[in-house]
Amino acid sequence: MKKSLLQKLKQKLEQEKATIEKQLKSFAREDKKLKGDWDTLFPHWDGEAGGAGLEKAADEVEEYSTLLPIEYNLELKLKNIDLALEKIKKGKYGICEKCGRKIDEKRLKIYPEARFCLKCKK
Ligand SMILES: [Zn+2]
Repeated sequence: MKKSLLQKLKQKLEQEKATIEKQLKSFAREDKKLKGDWDTLFPHWDGEAGGAGLEKAADEVEEYSTLLPIEYNLELKLKNIDLALEKIKKGKYGICEKCGRKIDEKRLKIYPEARFCLKCKK
């Protein structure tokens, strides 16, 4: 792979990483004990009594369950980005983890955190 392309993909990965971290921080906090793990914050319920309070609590539970899969996906993407950045450091970027062949550059341009080539992804 050309150095200029590698540099470009690295930049793209770093930008994406920053964006994802910003998104995650808006509704989750990073688990300090487990690197790369994020916990969705359960929306604060102030314990308001009566019907209104319960309704509010139900809304927040719903919000929580909507955020969980989003958090999971962002976390997964972040992990793959970190892996890709690690590989760039080690000079092993762009190699399929399964078959060891080069991943198509066209694929990497669209999906720079790809870990497998198209054949192995199937
Ligand atoms: Zn492969």
